[in-house]
Amino acid sequence: MAYGLGVARGMLVTLKHVFRPAITVNYPEQQREVPVRARTNLLWFEERCTGCSTCAQACPDGCILVQTSPRPDGTLNIDRYEIDFRICMYCGLCTEACPYQAIQAGGRYNDAVYVFETMYRDRDALTREAQTYLGETGGRYPNGQTQDAIPLITSMPTARSRVDVAGTGGPFGPQRLPGRHVRE
Ligand code: SF4
Ligand code: SF4
Repeated sequence: MAYGLGVARGMLVTLKHVFRPAITVNYPEQQREVPVRARTNLLWFEERCTGCSTCAQACPDGCILVQTSPRPDGTLNIDRYEIDFRICMYCGLCTEACPYQAIQAGGRYNDAVYVFETMYRDRDALTREAQTYLGETGGRYPNGQTQDAIPLITSMPTARSRVDVAGTGGPFGPQRLPGRHVRE
């Protein structure tokens, strides 16, 4: 093989790409649109959550903490819901286990932090993330459902079946609701 042929071929490839439009973007000034179903992060939607703890049981890393207390009507009050993203491996098993799709894959990918401990997110931090997401998507969840589609009426008086839709001006989350549910 003639000397320098490889270099010439390499330069040819470079030249071809010089005249093509760039496929990169100037991050962070420019950002690509993230596909709706991208598994970028975890979002917990308080208004969908019943406090059943299935997600916590499914998590192999044990990074989800759910603490509940019973209400007189048999539903659960969510006292604490926390995710330790320091040890989360984003496997998505919690999202598959949740019967109500209250925890879903999605949301922002640019959540790098300076302080490691801030990756431990409590209920307030998780709710802020979720509300920001819903604000940006006009109330559409990562699974494609809209807030209008929930709460679904179920045969059981779960917290989910009696909460108001989040983000409509009123309080949200079962823990802020009165203990007694009046079905319409
Ligand atoms: S994504 Fe995986 S590791 Fe992270 S909280 Fe869910 S189940 Fe646990
Ligand atoms: S996120 Fe889903 S699985 Fe976890 S406690 Fe809430 S309803 Fe249950």
